[in-house]
Order: sequence, then structure tokens, then C-alpha cells
Amino acid sequence: MRVAVVGAGPAGIYAADILTKADLPSTFDSVTVDLIERDPTPFGLIRYGVAPDHPRIKEIVKALKRVLSNPDIRFFGNVSYGDDLKLDDLQRFYDAVIFATGARRDRDLDIEGIDLKGSFGAADFVAWYDGHPDVDRDWPFEPNATSVAVLGVGNVGLDVARILAKTADELLTTEIPDNVADGLRRNATTDVHVFARRGPAQVKFTPMELRELNHSPNIDVVVHPEGFELDEDSMDAIRGSKSVKLVVDVLQNYLAKEPSGAAHRIHIHFCQNPVEVLGEDGRVVGLRTEVTELDGTGNVRGTGDFIDWPVQAVYRAIGYYSDNLAGLPFDLAGGVVPNDGGRVINIDGSALPGAYVTGWIKRGPVGLIGHTKSDAAQTVELMLEDVDPSTGSGTERSRPEQPEREAVDAYFESRGLEVTTWEGWERLDAHELALGESHAHPRERVKVVPRDEMVRISRS
Ligand code: NAP
Repeated sequence: MRVAVVGAGPAGIYAADILTKADLPSTFDSVTVDLIERDPTPFGLIRYGVAPDHPRIKEIVKALKRVLSNPDIRFFGNVSYGDDLKLDDLQRFYDAVIFATGARRDRDLDIEGIDLKGSFGAADFVAWYDGHPDVDRDWPFEPNATSVAVLGVGNVGLDVARILAKTADELLTTEIPDNVADGLRRNATTDVHVFARRGPAQVKFTPMELRELNHSPNIDVVVHPEGFELDEDSMDAIRGSKSVKLVVDVLQNYLAKEPSGAAHRIHIHFCQNPVEVLGEDGRVVGLRTEVTELDGTGNVRGTGDFIDWPVQAVYRAIGYYSDNLAGLPFDLAGGVVPNDGGRVINIDGSALPGAYVTGWIKRGPVGLIGHTKSDAAQTVELMLEDVDPSTGSGTERSRPEQPEREAVDAYFESRGLEVTTWEGWERLDAHELALGESHAHPRERVKVVPRDEMVRISRS
């Protein structure tokens, strides 16, 4: 059996792992998987989404590396689904295709002024500080941007707030590329204002991430009492969830704490709904919020009172959004490929034979990395049911025209694609580790950023 997994982030790698360990239907005696990835490197958001000062999460890479060293799983990087190959091409080579392309873009926020200069999406900023090859090398920090707003109280909002509030020197122990270190030296931010549109019991961030905001000697966390509302519904949420209780406890500790006089501050404001980014001469000069109040259901209503906050930059961290995939249906509102447990479903409700989804493209951009494991298990189970003629699920496909492994290599070659492989990643990995060791500020790794350089090193 031959399966392609498009996207070599955690979701795709877990799917490949589960599949190669699964009991196959009697029609197949073995399975091999090809992971097809747009980046020249594997690991998706672990490499290009996790903040550089979160090395613990990067430990997951060790487990993923073990999966990718399985000879039944191949990695093909620097291949873009939709440009370099489409569903029809994949169906010539594979019995089934699992899409695990995640969500990398920022969800739109439709408020006035959102397109002003100095208004940014968090996903773009994250891609920049994590050294993604496809974003500009320079981040447009303005010398006068001392106060900035972060919209949204999820873990991405906290990552962005923390990176903006830390000093460049503090981050020099991490794997940030040199261009990012240089950029951060021009970051003039002293005050980051994080805005929650609901109350303290409705935030999305997790307790550990909230606690560690305070670990930098250069940062005071200031929780503002206005809007710190805990209604009956919030109390129920606190009683019903250990995580909500812990988050509210940490917020209350911050609220009670006197600032230490650190040079930078992260302010957290509750019950403030962003309604307009204010501009002058095309640039951000402020943020207008409407004060909200809890309505007893976990939601809020506007009070009709507005506050203008003088900020010189705005980062919206209101969630990620997936790219539409060529040849597949797409649910614009949810930003996912419509599916039933992972089987891709056409607009007319029928299943698209041989096409599956897992991870954020399947269920939206929520949940931690580990959650994609159970997700992948469900998708793989359904896929194996479909290729088993004895289950009669009705979505069986005939075998692909060219199931031999080499047929895909020949296709890439005929298209002149500069594909990177697992061995290529091992070369780039060793190169980055060596750069870290020999750097003026020695550290575990320094990332290579330009795509052509990554590809050259991988293919050398
Ligand atoms: P998220 O957890 O869904 O948070 C999005 C935030 O944006 C929420 O506070 C939401 O408020 C707010 N929001 C949405 N629309 C808004 C609007 N129109 N105006 C104002 N606020 C708005 O998303 P995320 O932070 O992008 O994180 C995605 C996933 O990755 C999460 O599961 C997260 O835990 C995970 N992650 C984990 C880590 C880590 O473990 N360190 C790091 C990064 C990301 P409402 O709740 O009111 O909608």
C-alpha cells in the first residue's frame, strides 16, 4: 500500500507513524509512506511556530526524528502541493493521500484601520522570528513604537507579547537567526498591552505559559483590575476545570503584585473588544476598544463605552487560518477542509475517494501538538477501513497507475524539482548545530534562513 502525507509537521508525521504500525487489510502486506512538504525541512510549526525561548517543546522533535528514520517513511521537502503537484498527480502514485497542511496564516480581523502600517498578524511575526525562509528578512520595527497592542489571549498572543517585551540579549541564547537578533535590537517596545475581549475565566492561554511571563528579570506583568470580572458563570468554569482555576489564580497573583520596576511591562486588560485601529498619515497611532461586560453565558455584550489606547503598533493574535488546497473542497467560515472524522467530504455530501485530512486542516487551529496524535489515529483508521474491500464502505479506489516507489522520484526529476530528503535534513541539521557551536554567542543551533541556502546545504 502506498500513501502520501502532504505536510510534514507533527500531524503528518504522527499519521505516517500510526499508519506504518497499523494492522493492514488483507489486500495489502506492507505500507510505505511519502511525506511531501513545502518547506525544505520537516517538523512544520515545531520549527516555524514554537517560540525560540520554548526549547522544551522542541524536545518533541526527538520522537519525530525516530519516526522519520524509519525506512518505510520517506521525506520529500521543498515540494509545494498545488504548484509542483496536484491531487490528480498524487492519485497516480498513491492508494490514498492524507493532507496535514495545518494552518499558518492569520485569521482576518475585519475592523477599520487593520491594514494601516504598523498593524501586523501574529503568524507573520512568528514566521519572522522563527526564521521562515518565505518571509522578509527585516521586521519593520519603528523607533517610536514603545507601546504596542496584542489582540487575543491565546498562547500565540502570549508568545508575541513575550518576544516583544524581552530584550534581544535575552534571546541570544536561543536558536534565533542573526537577522532576527539584529532586528530585535531595533525593537523599542517597553509596554505591551494584551487585550482580552472577555473575562479572566474565558482566556485561552494555558497556566504554565502564563506563569512563565514573569520569568524574565526585564519584565513586569501588570494585570489591570478594570474588567477583571468573575460572574457566576465564570465561577462555574473555575470549579469545573483545573486549568481555568490555575489560570485565574495566576492572574489574581499578578493582580495583587507590586511591579518590581523592570524596564518592560506586559499589561493584561480584560473586557476590551478591539473595534478600530486608529491611524494618522497611514500609520498606527492607537487602538479603540469597546468596554464589554459578561452576559452570564461566558460571552460578553458591548457597553457603548469606548477607550482609545495610544499604541504605535498592533499585533492581532486572534487565531490561525488554513490555506485552501487545490482540488479539495474548503469551508471558508471554519477555515478547514470539510470532513467526516478525516474523510474529505465534497459539497454534495459525498466522500472524495482516497483523500483524507488530519490536524489543524481537519479540525481548525486549536489544541496542543500532542492532540494531533489521536486525530491522526482516527483518520488512519477510517482510511484503512476504506481500502479494505471487506468493509464495503463504498469509497474504495482501484490501485494507482504507478504504485512503485521510484515513480515519484522520476516525477520530481522530470519536473526539475530540487527536492530535499531526510538525509538532506540531517546534513542541514548538522550544519546548523555547527553554526551554533562556532557562533560569537555559542548556543545549541543557529537556523539557516534563505531557502536556496537551505536547499543547497541539504542537497550537497
Ligand atoms: P486561540 O487559543 O484560539 O486564541 C485566540 C484568541 O483570540 C482568543 O483569546 C480569542 O478570544 C481571541 N479572538 C478571536 N477573535 C477575536 C476578535 N475578533 N477580537 C478579539 N479577540 C479575538 O488561538 P492561538 O493563540 O492562535 O493558539 C492556537 C493553538 O495553538 C492553541 O491551541 C494554543 O494553545 C496552541 N499554542 C500553544 C503554545 C504553547 O503551548 N506554548 C504556543 C502557541 C500556540 P475569544 O476566546 O473571546 O474568541
